[in-house]
Amino acid sequence: MDFASGRHFLQIPGPTNIPDRILRAIGRPIIDHRGPGFASLGHEVLAGLRPIFKTEQPVIIYPASGSGAWEAALVNTMSPGDKVLMCETGHFAVLWQQIAHRLGIDTDIIETDWRHGADPTAIGEALTRDAAHEIKGVCIVHNETSTGVVSRIAEIRRAIDAAGHPALLMVDTISSLASIDYRMDEWGVDVTVAGSQKGLMLPPGLSFNAVSDKALAASKDAKLPQSYWSWDDMLAANRSGFFPYTPATNLLYGLREAIAMLNEEGLDNVFARHCRHGAATRLAVDSWGLEVVCKNPDEFSGSLTAVLLPPEQSADRLREVILDRFNMSLGTGLGRLADKVFRIGHLGSFNDLMLAGTLSGVEMGLALAGVPHQPGGVQAALAYLARNRQ
Ligand SMILES: *Cc1c(COP(=O)(O)O)cnc(C)c1O
Repeated sequence: MDFASGRHFLQIPGPTNIPDRILRAIGRPIIDHRGPGFASLGHEVLAGLRPIFKTEQPVIIYPASGSGAWEAALVNTMSPGDKVLMCETGHFAVLWQQIAHRLGIDTDIIETDWRHGADPTAIGEALTRDAAHEIKGVCIVHNETSTGVVSRIAEIRRAIDAAGHPALLMVDTISSLASIDYRMDEWGVDVTVAGSQKGLMLPPGLSFNAVSDKALAASKDAKLPQSYWSWDDMLAANRSGFFPYTPATNLLYGLREAIAMLNEEGLDNVFARHCRHGAATRLAVDSWGLEVVCKNPDEFSGSLTAVLLPPEQSADRLREVILDRFNMSLGTGLGRLADKVFRIGHLGSFNDLMLAGTLSGVEMGLALAGVPHQPGGVQAALAYLARNRQ
């Protein structure tokens, strides 16, 4: 059947569903990005982003995917041969490592089993061993989108401080910003990396670096070449509400609308909504007799749930059946989890009945694909949602 009536269910953990309000905002005619009308848009989004990051520091906006902001964080702060400490929490942590490696940055890796977050104790020990302070940065993925595990950034900050180590703390919040509680200034983060297409409910195409004074000071001595990603050029142009090169103007219209929507709902309500949908999803998974990837309840993700299939079962075949029969896309397993897990995105513009539809599609798909499970997961999730009003 080629024609699919109704809305496609896009329940991958990003890009997420784009609200009509944002689509309409993006559809406005473009304006001159050097003209007098532009500066107020620029000032509005640059200022409006700060409370979303919970920072008073500048937020830089790139017309780029999240990977660009990863690269920007590194080239603005590091010199060739510098060392960073990274925690391999999953596939996205591996990709950030590869960027560092290609840029000629030395990486020290702390491994995990991909079922736990970055370990603050192990980070503290690695920094204590580094008496010569060769490590210039600690790079952590806040919400590991390949596994649905959240690393505890406040505890990592305390471990860095307890070791008395001056390394910059750089955090990827691409799938946690505006979905999961995140506090840049309170947690002493030096560079926050973020992207548009997940909690911010926008299309892909914008990414962000929020930068502390310490990171700005480090950028003065950083010797990696910086051109497109240069913080200095951005910050100089941003002071008057402009950009050093053509910005993604229509996405900035969308960003202004997204910030307004997040403020109308209230960030704490946004976080609570994501937590509640994560909890309902895990209840369904439990009732099916399946396992979530995340092992530590303190590290469960509100953005997405990664579900392990029983051995010998193909997660990709299950996803194919669900797409074919119910017009719903679920996230694929990435890296070493390929074909072993599927991921349910419950972030961004989302509500109870969208979750009900999503879980119904999964439960019907499990039966159709012949995956051994207990029925009743949807019922368990619905009962939880009905009982627990947000
Ligand atoms: C989506 C994602 C990325 C990659 O962003 P792109 O826009 O695909 O470059 C990086 N890190 C995390 C945690 C993500 O979820």
